[in-house]
Amino acid sequence: MSNLDIKKMKNAIRYKSSLENISKYKIFEYRRRDKNKGRDYNIDDYITVEWIKEKIKENPQCSLCKCELLLCRYPKNDGQQFSVQRINNKLAHIKKNCCIICWKCNHIAKRGKYDKIKK
Ligand SMILES: [Zn+2]
Repeated sequence: MSNLDIKKMKNAIRYKSSLENISKYKIFEYRRRDKNKGRDYNIDDYITVEWIKEKIKENPQCSLCKCELLLCRYPKNDGQQFSVQRINNKLAHIKKNCCIICWKCNHIAKRGKYDKIKK
């Protein structure tokens, strides 16, 4: 194996573990928020790290603005980082209620302008 291959492999591992860790952290935060807001859910329906990975693999772009999502090692509060958007605000972060969009769009959506950016 050449040095370049080893470098590539190391990057791949680092990349994977980072996306995994970030996803874990985000899911932890989402669960905390859902609990605080009293949004009930069945744990079997809740999003998982695998679900996030699968979704990003299917489409590595923001579903709304189509920007390239940043998956790891992005600057703190970078608008292009991936985030999980709930489609129905009354429901928790369960798989069928979620899509992956960028952080910037997530924040616009929070201010009730979701329909505007969707068009
Ligand atoms: Zn976006």
